Amino acid sequence: MKKLILLLLILSLCLAFVGCGKAKDTTADTKPAEKPSSSDSSSSEKPEEEKEEYKVDFDSWEMTLTDSAHPLAEGFAPPLATVKSAYTNHPNTRFDARAIGRLIYMLEDAEKEGITLKIETAFKSENDQLSIFNAKVNEVMDSDITLTLREAEDIAKTEVAFPRTSEHELGLAVDFAKEGSDFKETEEYKWLIENCYDYGFIPRFEDNPAHFRYVGVENAAAIKESGLGFDEYLKQFGNK
Ligand SMILES: [Zn+2]
Repeated sequence: MKKLILLLLILSLCLAFVGCGKAKDTTADTKPAEKPSSSDSSSSEKPEEEKEEYKVDFDSWEMTLTDSAHPLAEGFAPPLATVKSAYTNHPNTRFDARAIGRLIYMLEDAEKEGITLKIETAFKSENDQLSIFNAKVNEVMDSDITLTLREAEDIAKTEVAFPRTSEHELGLAVDFAKEGSDFKETEEYKWLIENCYDYGFIPRFEDNPAHFRYVGVENAAAIKESGLGFDEYLKQFGNK
């Protein structure tokens, strides 16, 4: 009988070790889980398991950072699919084909709860963005004829994205619209802030509450839990 108890004890110890080994393997490339303890003292008291549940691949297409410091490659062309007309204010509104399913789920689920989300802008090509930028440059020059083209371009860059630096060119950003209202004050905005993460979307800009960005469901959950914005999250955990 003693032998049997000893055997069971050894067996359970072995199982415990195997369990530990497995837990380590699955968390080996979970970058954000490793860093907060050293850089963020407020989260250091969280149990290890809680910090290590998300796997974030910072080099995936979902996590691409596109801004003036991170322009897209020339000729960048994501796979695109067209958003059905019920959900957009404009025909031929396109979104990344790999993520459009999540976008539509989100819009459908919102609709079931009485929230009608209409997309104003989604994908923009480099040429679309160039037209928008040039229009802004012209507007700036018209407003002050003493400006040189270079000066007008610099001013325009503070108001609209230069071609290849807009998230809309990635095909992963949407701007929602509700006519005649401040979007941040709408039911639609409140619904999105509560639910968008579940579909892989995150709010992106303080000064543009209608703009939401797809990053993937697991990445969105990790970003939400961090309490950081996308840029800060990438800087802190992704070395971007
Ligand atoms: Zn936008």
